[in-house]
Amino acid sequence: MSLIEITDVRKSFGPNEVLKGINLDVEPGEVIAIIGKSGSGKSTLLRCINGLETISDGSISVAGAQLLDDEAHLKALRLKVGMIFQQFNLFPHLTAGGNVMLSQMVVKKTPKPEAEEMARKMLERVGLDHKFDAYPDELSGGQQQRVAIARALAMQPIALLCDEITSALDPELVAEVLAVVRELAAEGMTLLMVTHEMRFARDVCSRVVFMHQGRVHEIGPPEEVFANPQTPELKQFLGVH
Ligand code: ADP
Ligand code: MG
Repeated sequence: MSLIEITDVRKSFGPNEVLKGINLDVEPGEVIAIIGKSGSGKSTLLRCINGLETISDGSISVAGAQLLDDEAHLKALRLKVGMIFQQFNLFPHLTAGGNVMLSQMVVKKTPKPEAEEMARKMLERVGLDHKFDAYPDELSGGQQQRVAIARALAMQPIALLCDEITSALDPELVAEVLAVVRELAAEGMTLLMVTHEMRFARDVCSRVVFMHQGRVHEIGPPEEVFANPQTPELKQFLGVH
């Protein structure tokens, strides 16, 4: 059994079908890069996997539990699968530590002392234990994104979905965030990441998924997908001729 099983998934917004039958099985510990043009359905796919969007057809199961279209299920799923976005979405009035503690306390009802202990541990994991008491506006963009990663990790997810998490960062801050992701990958975290960082995808990912017009257009290990693209669409996307 795969950790995440995506079978014939379709998703429409009104008349606009943006996922047109996606099949993808993710094994525990896999690191998958999702690439493709803007509008190809990458974010929608991630949002379906953690239950932020309901699917129109097909099925998604996570750790053996099928994702059903009811609120209780979606909520359970959001607990199991963490997601990190391009925008860090930290609460400005809470410290880094407070941000990492909050969802544990609100969503999981974790008692405060335990939430704090977990927050310190996870901030340490992203190299920010010394910033526990800092407010978001005292942190760089890279540090804020690392707090967002710590916040997701504090929920102890079985997989982490990353949607262009370095796209809003100044170029000099990208590396520190990717270094954290690289470490999580090395520790065996299952990761699905939409990214434009092709070099990172090549170095770290076990498979690359190229999405085009709501379909998985090509999929394979990075050395195949990047070195030997099969379709004109992927060749064009990669800028190879
Ligand atoms: P990508 O992340 O690859 O850029 P998205 O998944 O964001 O693509 O979007 C795929 C398509 O779905 C786009 O045409 C977008 O306009 C549409 N779409 C995404 N979210 C919504 C929504 N909430 N309502 C209507 N259309 C949406
Ligand atoms: Mg997107």
